[in-house]
Amino acid sequence: MKQAAPSANRKLSFVIPVFNEQDNLVPLVEELSGVAAGLPFTHEIILIDDGSSDDSLTVIRELSRTRPQLKYLALARNSGQSAALAAGIQAASGEVVVTLDADLQNDPADLAQMLRHYGEYDMVTGWRHNRRDSLAKRIGSLIGNFVRNRLTGETIRDTGCSLKVMRASLLKRIKWYRGLHRFLPTLMRLEGARVIEVKVNHRPRTRGTSKYNNWRRAIDGLYDVLAVRWMIKRQQTVVVREQHLDD
Ligand code: UDP
Ligand code: MG
Repeated sequence: MKQAAPSANRKLSFVIPVFNEQDNLVPLVEELSGVAAGLPFTHEIILIDDGSSDDSLTVIRELSRTRPQLKYLALARNSGQSAALAAGIQAASGEVVVTLDADLQNDPADLAQMLRHYGEYDMVTGWRHNRRDSLAKRIGSLIGNFVRNRLTGETIRDTGCSLKVMRASLLKRIKWYRGLHRFLPTLMRLEGARVIEVKVNHRPRTRGTSKYNNWRRAIDGLYDVLAVRWMIKRQQTVVVREQHLDD
C-alpha cells in the first residue's frame, strides 16, 4: 500500500477515548486547541465516548456545537480502550494520528518535539520518564514492560504511554483486538513502521479515576503478549520475483 504523500495542507487527527471523564473534557479540548493552533498542521479532535455513565457525552455534544474541529463518536456500550481507539482511528481523516488520554495526564506541549521526528519515523511514542502515578502502578508497568519486551523482542520502555504520533496509512492497516493498544509499537513495526521512543512529560490525574487495576492489567497483558508473540513469529514476508497477471 502507498504511504500518504505529504501535502501542503497536512492534517493531524487527535483520537481520544473517553470513559467517564466529564470534568476533564473542557480543559482537555481547550488545552489541545491552544497547542494545535501553534503547530504547522490543520487538525481535528475526535472524542470517542466509550459508553460513559456520567455526563461525558452531554459535555462532548455541547463542546462540538461551537467547535468545528471537534468530532465525536458515541459507542453503544463500554467496549474498552482498544475498541474506542480503533473506532476513532477508522474515522480519522488526517495524515497523522495523535492518540492521547482524556484525563490530562499526557501533556500536549510535547507534540512540537515529537512531530520533529515524524517523517524520519512513522511512529513517535512517548516515554513517561517522570511518571506521576502511584508506586503500585509504576511497579506494575515496570514488570509489564519487562515481560512484554522479553517475549516480543522489543526495547520499548513505556508502551502504555498513550501519547503517540503515528502515520495514519500504516495505523489504519492494523486489525484491532481487545487489549492491543498496549502493543502498538510492535503492531506498527509489523506494518513496516520506523518507530522511535522519546521522553515526554506526565501529570497526575486530578479529576476522575483510573479505569484499570494492576491485576486485571497483568492477566490481560500476559494473555495478549502471547498473541502478539505469535503474530511476530508467524509474520509472512512475501517477495515476488516475477509476475504475469491480468491488467
Ligand atoms: N478508557 C476508555 N475505555 C475504557 C477504559 C479507559 O475509553 O474502558 C479511556 C479513559 O477515559 C482514558 C484512557 O482510556 O482517556 C486511559 O484510561 P486511564 O486514564 O484510566 O488509564 P491509566 O492512565 O490509569 O492507565
Ligand atoms: Mg490516565
